[in-house]
Amino acid sequence: MHYIAITGGVISGLGKGTITSSLGYLLKSQGLRVTSIKIDPYLNYDAGTMNPYQHGEVFVLDDGSEVDLDLGNYERFIDVRLTKDNNITTGKVYKEVIEKERRGEYLGSTVQIIPHVTNEIKRRIRLVASSGDYDVILIEIGGTVGDIESMPFLEAVRELGREEGPGNFIFAHVTLVPEVGPMGEQKTKPTQHSVKALREIGIQPDMLFCRSKNPLTIESKNRISLFTDVPLGGIISVIDVKNVYLLPESIKKEGVVDFILKKFSLHGNEVVDEWKTFKENIKNPKESVTIALVGKYTELHDAYISHKEAFTHVTGNTGIDVNIKWIESLDLEKSLDPLKDVDGILIAPGFGQRGIEGKILSAKYARENNIPLAGVCLGFQVIVIEYARNVLGLKDANSTEFVPDTKNPVIDILPEQKGVTDKGGTMRLGSQKVLIRDNTLAKTLYGKSETYERHRHRYEVNPDYIERLEQSGLIFSGVDSEGRRMEIAELKGETSLFAVQFHSEFLSRPTNPSKLHLHLVKEALKHKDHLLQTEVTN
Ligand code: GLN
Repeated sequence: MHYIAITGGVISGLGKGTITSSLGYLLKSQGLRVTSIKIDPYLNYDAGTMNPYQHGEVFVLDDGSEVDLDLGNYERFIDVRLTKDNNITTGKVYKEVIEKERRGEYLGSTVQIIPHVTNEIKRRIRLVASSGDYDVILIEIGGTVGDIESMPFLEAVRELGREEGPGNFIFAHVTLVPEVGPMGEQKTKPTQHSVKALREIGIQPDMLFCRSKNPLTIESKNRISLFTDVPLGGIISVIDVKNVYLLPESIKKEGVVDFILKKFSLHGNEVVDEWKTFKENIKNPKESVTIALVGKYTELHDAYISHKEAFTHVTGNTGIDVNIKWIESLDLEKSLDPLKDVDGILIAPGFGQRGIEGKILSAKYARENNIPLAGVCLGFQVIVIEYARNVLGLKDANSTEFVPDTKNPVIDILPEQKGVTDKGGTMRLGSQKVLIRDNTLAKTLYGKSETYERHRHRYEVNPDYIERLEQSGLIFSGVDSEGRRMEIAELKGETSLFAVQFHSEFLSRPTNPSKLHLHLVKEALKHKDHLLQTEVTN
């Protein structure tokens, strides 16, 4: 077993997750079996209860665990299905240690960070390592060196490196090389200091990934090598790329693959580049559309990262560039102007009442103006509410999430959710079977009668309203395995609307984009071309 531990230095936000994912992709492209672990040094048990404004999107895995968004990047780059064990948090580690102590498993000893907490961290890492037939395990440690929270994890990987031996362990450190002054001189001091901090806790990095505006000059590399003892071949220049999926090839040119294989005494067998056309399309798209993403955390794009990525997957597969117009739904309550120039609308998932009316207005606007519309989770529910209000004439239709005593609760709490008070890990979560009805748009898009998709919700379409909605044209073309829960909505005989209760964005992959996003973009292009033609004939 071989391990690569990736730590961060200087500042956060240097793209450690993308670098880790890119390493995964490159090693997998050598025919190696790779998996990845994210360590989050916060005390939360998992990411499920965290505000997207602070940490970005909460990603959901097949097993229903709610995890850090970096696991989404790993799944997309390495094309694997991860589990709850691939995300280690301080919360999980301490909970386990305290429970063991209560069971008397440490009877007689004083329970301490070293060795009890560090042993639990190593146990969890090795658990993932032994869960499959892997050649390389990537371990990304959140935060930056020097944070108090990450200390036990850094100590644990230091010990792990010692136990596994230098031929099986690589310490990689991500730093920043700023360029300052009128000549844009590259400054290596922050990197030197960051490595010094690592060495103080006993970790000598084998590789440095240096983020900089321009490629590192040979002088910068020499200076960094001299002060850090990292060999020149292990100093990798990481510059901005147009798109994250272009990072692997960029760092490969820096010799990353050869360096790692040599250090591990592994032989690579380069496999066919699955992303070849995908990357070509991303670099040179032939057409473009503008899609409004209507949400309530739109200031932080990471809150919708899987949607952003799903649209990139569509571009890579179709050559249609997607310009996402981020629209705060609250703003739409004042004016719908932001929607005037878009070719399609996606109503995003979400929780809570703020901005709901703006989302409902955008669904109405799309329906009345024939603009391609898609909705995911809350977006799906909003589309149902809008239809009930303005087509069925149930003016007070709402979700009991927002108006608990509404007269027309077209969206209501799932029966099994009644009485659930704990917030963590208690929604309808993870991979669930969806049955698809014949002769529907859903069937055409999926090309099969059942599929598995990831979920994260507490509310659903109220069964009391289904018949009325369907009779007036909004049909449910996908249902759960018992036929009780509505999973997909579309308009009878039309293709302009497609909405799903599940999260199609979580399973979108570069080689297999989300059906919903793909359909929306194709419809948007049709709509745009149609408008252009009408303009020409006029
Ligand atoms: N708030 C809605 C529910 O709980 C939608 C959730 C979501 O969009 N993820 O059902």
